[in-house]
Amino acid sequence: MIDRVHNFSAGPAALPLPVLQKAQEELLALPGVGSSVMEISHRSKAFSAINQEANDNLRQLLNVPENYKILFLQGGARLQFGMIPLNFLADSPTAADYVLTGSWGKHACKEAKLVGDVNVVWDGGETNYDRLPSADQLQLNADAPYVHFTSNETIQGVQFDADAQMGNAPWVCDASSDILCRPVPIEKYGLIYACAQKNVGPAGVTLVIIRDDLIEKSNEKIPTYLNYAVHAKGDSLYNTPPSFAVYMVGLVAKWLLEDIGGLAKMEETNQQKAAMLYEAIDASNGFYAGHAQPECRSIMNVAFRLPSDELQDTFLAEAAENKLTTLKGHRSVGGIRASIYNAMPTEGVAALRDFMKDFAAKNS
Ligand SMILES: *Cc1c(COP(=O)(O)O)cnc(C)c1O
Repeated sequence: MIDRVHNFSAGPAALPLPVLQKAQEELLALPGVGSSVMEISHRSKAFSAINQEANDNLRQLLNVPENYKILFLQGGARLQFGMIPLNFLADSPTAADYVLTGSWGKHACKEAKLVGDVNVVWDGGETNYDRLPSADQLQLNADAPYVHFTSNETIQGVQFDADAQMGNAPWVCDASSDILCRPVPIEKYGLIYACAQKNVGPAGVTLVIIRDDLIEKSNEKIPTYLNYAVHAKGDSLYNTPPSFAVYMVGLVAKWLLEDIGGLAKMEETNQQKAAMLYEAIDASNGFYAGHAQPECRSIMNVAFRLPSDELQDTFLAEAAENKLTTLKGHRSVGGIRASIYNAMPTEGVAALRDFMKDFAAKNS
């Protein structure tokens, strides 16, 4: 067995070990096919089955209603930042609403401004995005073509509750770093999107879950690849899809269904994992300072600081010696960030928690 570390990378992030093992087992020849999934036509029977099964399993996991399509696209979440306004804002008489709760929401908003009018309904920049708005702080326009928000800000570690309310315009959500971490009421959304490389699979494929009425509103005057209706009509096979990445997403979905037992179970474990680290922060008498306000702490990305840059560097070096890796925070927030997506096992989080306690005791 190869020696694997506890990898707290924010993305591309750790994948479930059983998924990697399955892929390794099938890498040279898919059963019954005799070729790797990377070597067969995307129009073959074998790949169609993989594409369909990945779709069906995600539909079951997230309880996606009939009037929604699940699409596998490319270009990452960043392309969605542009595709969304190109399809729904370009011809709109009203501005789109954007809720800015961190770096990714800001990037999404900037792209939308290239296309049309945007109304920033809330911006947490004043406190370096350490908190979220309450429902009554949002001046939402029901006539907006959509309201865009980020369910989990990966860099700042602030996450909306699964039952957050965003008003009456279609909800468009960047769920790149928390999709599949818990059940979500899909029926409340117009469109949810997520790049795969945090919580769903390898980089290269982007999930889009979109309601039929929005598909019908897609813009036909933009390049064909950017039109949602084209992908919805062609089962995400308009052009060659990232077939290996789609295959991996299928394996992750199957792992969540069969090994984990669904998203409610996954959430239970995720809550326990996050609580271990936040408890270590809160019990440290201020040695560790969490970035997010306690009421909006993310269960996926735990961002915190130490008393000095020197101690932070020592923390990172000693953590790595203990096989706890990729813990450096994003440069815009500094400090430490532990990304603890679905694939991070409880033992990994427990090892980090124990290390944090020892380190604080030694250095306070
Ligand atoms: C990682 C991330 C992105 C960027 O994804 P790309 O696939 O690199 O375009 C966007 N939004 C959020 C919330 C993310 O975590």
